[in-house]
Amino acid sequence: MDRRIFCRTAIAAGVAASYPLLGACSRSEPPVASSANTSIRGISFDGAELELEKAALKELGDAMTGPVILSGHPDYDGARSIWNSMHDKRPALIARCLNNEDVSKAVTFAAERDLLVAVRGGGHSWPGKSVCDDGMMIDLSQLTNVTVDTEAQRAVAGGGALLGHLDQASLPHGLVTTAGVVSHTGVGGFTLGGGFGRLNRKYGLAVDNLRSATMITADGKILTVNSDEDADLFWAVRGGGGNFGVATEFEFQLHPFDRNVLSGNIVWPFEQAKDVLEFYAEWSAGLSDEMYVGPVITTTPEGVRIIMTDVVYNGDPATGEKELAPLRAIGTPIADDVIVQDYTVLQTNLDVPFGHGIRSYAKNGMVKAWSQGLVDTMLDADDPRIFIGSHVAGAAVKRVGELDTAFPHRNAEVMIVIAAGWMDPAEDDGLIAACRDYHKALEPHVGGYYTNIDFDGSRAASNYGPAYDRLSHIKGRYDPRNLFRLNSNISPA
Ligand SMILES: Cc1cc2nc3c(=O)[nH]c(=O)nc-3n(C[C@H](O)[C@H](O)[C@H](O)COP(=O)(O)OP(=O)(O)OC[C@H]3O[C@@H](n4cnc5c(N)ncnc54)[C@H](O)[C@@H]3O)c2cc1C
Repeated sequence: MDRRIFCRTAIAAGVAASYPLLGACSRSEPPVASSANTSIRGISFDGAELELEKAALKELGDAMTGPVILSGHPDYDGARSIWNSMHDKRPALIARCLNNEDVSKAVTFAAERDLLVAVRGGGHSWPGKSVCDDGMMIDLSQLTNVTVDTEAQRAVAGGGALLGHLDQASLPHGLVTTAGVVSHTGVGGFTLGGGFGRLNRKYGLAVDNLRSATMITADGKILTVNSDEDADLFWAVRGGGGNFGVATEFEFQLHPFDRNVLSGNIVWPFEQAKDVLEFYAEWSAGLSDEMYVGPVITTTPEGVRIIMTDVVYNGDPATGEKELAPLRAIGTPIADDVIVQDYTVLQTNLDVPFGHGIRSYAKNGMVKAWSQGLVDTMLDADDPRIFIGSHVAGAAVKRVGELDTAFPHRNAEVMIVIAAGWMDPAEDDGLIAACRDYHKALEPHVGGYYTNIDFDGSRAASNYGPAYDRLSHIKGRYDPRNLFRLNSNISPA
């Protein structure tokens, strides 16, 4: 078995060939707002029906540099399709923004009419918050540019850039910052909610590397936010999600990095999972900042239940080999492809199994400390359709003060994700129920959840804990009418 085993796991089954087709509709005059010949129906953020008048649509369409796409346009279906195809929604209009002014005009149009707004960065919202029925989608998918300042060791990424764009722009200069595990995930949503990645034990979360952002707030203002300017807002966007406006640019700290890293997967049959997890629960507490080892329980398409670990050692490979040796000595792995290889190999090896067009549901929980109860519950995961992944934190993530950023789970050792992926809508109910049941069993062993994977949306206050009051006041200042509500929503104070 080789590294491709992970590309053939349960969540991958049937997914690879599932990229959604771009809208095939073609007309001589594609429907865009600037040539609208009729008013269209919209919906307010309170759920009231609205009429979006022809003249207003035309005015917006004429004012924006990018197109305002209406239903029937050849790009409409492609633009409204997001990663999780369970969320098949039809916005009244899609403002495809090409610059800050476009975003400002789109936000102002929506705010003046109380129009429901969804903001699409990379489109990887698991719970589908970046698309809506009958409202406006602010589409940042064209803002993918990343520039690197090698001297200052900074990268500036557009609000619609993908994590792969960030890695691809930085790595050739021997620089890197924390990015997540699937390269087609958006920098936008990923960063605003926290941003876990395989290098976060050394460099911190994405929010810990954020140095400034360009934000378009609900009043249409274009703000540069950093620790000197609009510092409260800068605090809030480092963990508060999309609550505070549209981010069109993110400036990240980069770090010198040798892209040839000791990395790969070690795989055991599930029968050995008890030994592996019990060992891991103790051993992982003493790992260096350089070592990232994340356990995963999944099933191969051949039906073999496995436990595996995702490994990256961000340092001298020989030192990493020594630190990893005790894990390798556990049980009898059926595969071990942890070798010195280019960092992007691991950073892209989940791109196909987690490909666009999948139907998927996920729950997650923050683990403050490994316990026998947690291990036993994970071992009870005998439903082969369920994938249990982990995003490991600790180390540098934990050393940031609890209220230094709005990200609320500094004391978590790991974030566990329970997920299923499928293609047939007939399976929706069964698999959603299976994920929920499994999460229910896990709940006594976790505390809080990652807002970026929040389907529920009603527990933000308890999840943000002591940060919530400040977040709520900042929300009240920058978005008093809660225009930006399709997210893990913070109520304006
Ligand atoms: C396959 C997959 C892999 C993942 N891997 C990781 C991982 O390794 N680490 C991790 O931490 N998380 C991971 N996640 C979770 C991820 O952080 C969230 O799904 C995140 O919201 C995705 O961002 P996006 O821009 O692609 O999403 P979108 O669907 O575009 O948006 C998600 C939310 O963020 C808001 N938003 C997005 N961009 C902006 C912006 N520029 N300005 C304002 N608001 C914005 C949207 O309004 C929406 O509420 C993963 C998710 C998936 C589906």
